[in-house]
Amino acid sequence: MFSPRRAKWVLANKTCLSIRIYYYLCDAMNFNQVYLHTGANLGNREDNLKKANEWIRKEIGPIKSASKVYQTKAWGITDQPDFLNQALLVKTRLSPQELLEKIQAIERRMGRVREIKWGERIIDIDILFFNDAIIDTKNLTIPHPYLHYRNFVLLPLMDIAPELVHPGFGMTITELYANSEDTLAVEVVR
Ligand code: ADP
Ligand code: MG
Repeated sequence: MFSPRRAKWVLANKTCLSIRIYYYLCDAMNFNQVYLHTGANLGNREDNLKKANEWIRKEIGPIKSASKVYQTKAWGITDQPDFLNQALLVKTRLSPQELLEKIQAIERRMGRVREIKWGERIIDIDILFFNDAIIDTKNLTIPHPYLHYRNFVLLPLMDIAPELVHPGFGMTITELYANSEDTLAVEVVR
């Protein structure tokens, strides 16, 4: 018999199943599932995020899903313009190290100048997750070490991967957000 609750349950499970089939196929075809986070607080911020997406498509792989764009006050060093942020799911054949090199090349090509950590920037691209890999080398930490402290990362991620499990903590993005102590306001722009 039809009930809205049952319909919701069926829909949720169907969505879960199609995501699982999609992941299985990617795995079988040697594609990696990568979650990226883009941020900009200098210049035309909307345009910078769009340009970054174009470069990502060209240099890294197709964007399978993109979150809404959010605006947040700067985190860490607070005396700088507000950021726009977005989370992306990208399919790629690159290795983690190749991916890091590509995102840094895109940042450079877009004109980013590295001055201070957490300082203002035209574009920042971070790797949040790479499949369910746990990597801790000198220049690369995956999952991204600050993602669970930052609502401006967790909220965009919740748009596209609420049930994704953090391989280090064994918690979903939704659970990490529920446990987050970050109080900075994060608002939807588009
Ligand atoms: P942040 O993003 O923390 O403000 P940067 O973008 O300047 O700072 O990155 C600083 C360094 O962080 C980079 O040189 C890179 O080698 C390193 N790094 C480590 N793990 C990651 C990751 N998961 N994604 C992006 N950069 C990372
Ligand atoms: Mg970065």
